[in-house]
Amino acid sequence: MRDEYDIIVIMTNGKYIEFKKRELHCHLCGALNLQPIKEICNKHGIEIPSGKELDDLLHIREPVGSMLEYFQPWSILKQLPRNKNCIEMMISSVLKDFKKDNIEYVELRYSPLTFIQAAGVDIDTALDWIAYSIQKHESYSGIRARLVLTMSRFNFDFDFAEKLLKSIVRSNMGGTIVGIDLVGDEGLPIPADASKLFRKAKEEYGLGLTVHAGETWNLENVRWAVDECGADRIGHGLAASSCEKMMDLLREKDVCVEVCLQSNYLTGNVKNLKKHPVIKFIEFGVPFVLCTDNPALQDFSLSDEYELFEKITGREDLLEHMISMQRKHSFE
Ligand SMILES: [Zn+2]
Repeated sequence: MRDEYDIIVIMTNGKYIEFKKRELHCHLCGALNLQPIKEICNKHGIEIPSGKELDDLLHIREPVGSMLEYFQPWSILKQLPRNKNCIEMMISSVLKDFKKDNIEYVELRYSPLTFIQAAGVDIDTALDWIAYSIQKHESYSGIRARLVLTMSRFNFDFDFAEKLLKSIVRSNMGGTIVGIDLVGDEGLPIPADASKLFRKAKEEYGLGLTVHAGETWNLENVRWAVDECGADRIGHGLAASSCEKMMDLLREKDVCVEVCLQSNYLTGNVKNLKKHPVIKFIEFGVPFVLCTDNPALQDFSLSDEYELFEKITGREDLLEHMISMQRKHSFE
């Protein structure tokens, strides 16, 4: 039951389509609409329900009870990249949808390990296919697209991560891969030596570093990402709002928080949007950009995020300057 301070989110998808935008925190599979999902599943014999049951399985429109529940759609989504054609269809579809929302640049996040496992290929092949698809559909869609590779806390493997970095550097990919990210259950212990590897990625290989941290209110994960890994950006970062010292640090180091309002509401990590941590970030001058996280899964575009931000904060003036923050903190 909603309390009196809750905002009922109504997607209007209108006013902010006019704004040129950059999307800096968006997972490829979470941006995929039903059509390519159905096509790939039908072609490759991946069993899915039909009609409303499928719609319910692949959308989160009301707050869930746990992060595990939020990730339920990935039981299907992780099976999709069966081959080069599948990944190309996924990227093409996502970029077309972003174009409709007047997005000029996107950093798509994707797990190379998921791809390698689903398609049964090696690291080099997986990266080649993804980069090829992005480069091809950038020109078709007119959107500049880059890739941020994700690694998970759940199955973080130092040797694999090292091989991945070497593969990125070896193949170059025409500059398509611009960053790396750590995702997954923040309750799990921090992977051993991950910070060493992330520093190397940043300092030796010139990759941008973002870390999902503080999404489930774990402040230590934010500290670790900033202090030990040298993160350029923090995904969600909700916990930082509970510590003035941390917000000062983010401001002083110019570490940008990727704020995803609707995602935070739907994961149940922010119960009352009128008290979203972004209000504290504004107060303390913490750099932030608005992002969607999983726009198709949530049925909520980046324009909708802008509109929601305006409803929560009343700061349309900040939206007018959002593109300059997005440009400043992009990894390209
Ligand atoms: Zn995310």
